[in-house]
Amino acid sequence: MANGEKHLFLVEPLGFCGGVKHALELFDKIAAQNPDEHIYVFQELVHNSIVTDAMRKRNAVFVESIDDIPHNAITLFGAHGVGAAVEEEARKRNLRCYDAVCPLVLRLQQNAVSAPENLPLILFGDRQHPEIKSVLGRTSSRQVFILEKLEDVEKLPSMEDALFLCQTTRNQQEVRQLAALLKKRIPHLHDMASVCDAVALRQAAIAELAPKCDLMLVVSSPHSSNGRRMLSIAKEKCPRAMLVEDGDDLGEEDLEGVCNVGVSSATSTPDCTINAVIAKLEALGYVR
Ligand code: SF4
Repeated sequence: MANGEKHLFLVEPLGFCGGVKHALELFDKIAAQNPDEHIYVFQELVHNSIVTDAMRKRNAVFVESIDDIPHNAITLFGAHGVGAAVEEEARKRNLRCYDAVCPLVLRLQQNAVSAPENLPLILFGDRQHPEIKSVLGRTSSRQVFILEKLEDVEKLPSMEDALFLCQTTRNQQEVRQLAALLKKRIPHLHDMASVCDAVALRQAAIAELAPKCDLMLVVSSPHSSNGRRMLSIAKEKCPRAMLVEDGDDLGEEDLEGVCNVGVSSATSTPDCTINAVIAKLEALGYVR
């Protein structure tokens, strides 16, 4: 294959979303103001191992439980939010708390909390994801049904009305499919489910580009929910799609017979790793 036949396409937008930028700017500010103190981060600040490793070098300590944080220590809650019990526990331990919750996750929590108490909540998302846990942690007195996949709709009991919400990083198309299924079963469905714009834009862009590519790459940590979602959209539309964490994950064998390669990224992927993947492809003769 001659060099001129190799094409590299970039999905726009690439790199951090507003919520991730906001969380990392807050961490930067706290680290600059407290250079000699540990900053205890409850769960990951954002779902990216490269970002997390860089934060560790700047005194961040990641914990899964509030009990692991010493009394009065600096504590940072991540972009996906926390439940009320976590905040209460932090107060009891006299922790100096900062909250990096994304405003869009906050809106999801508020929608769940402010609905009438007797309205059941149908929540489309991953049960184990911190964002869903943060909503559950604020709606303990409400009847909540979690649907992790479209087929779960069959498990719902019959009901007259319900509020429908979703995790902000879900597949936009699936959210609308699920809303249509729910409307057939529930006469008075309050449909307030919406995927965040940063995610929806990336999903639409990858769905458009992937059919034109021989290989579609998603630069993301494997545990990023929106990165995994983008990979599944790419796989539906492109014969070959793979998730790479950085340039080292990409071997020449992955590019065998590939003329057109597309590059996209999760909302928590730093520019340095996207640029490393692009540089590797350019070194192998792919031209933008
Ligand atoms: S993906 Fe959307 S909801 Fe999640 S942190 Fe980014 S902007 Fe906020």
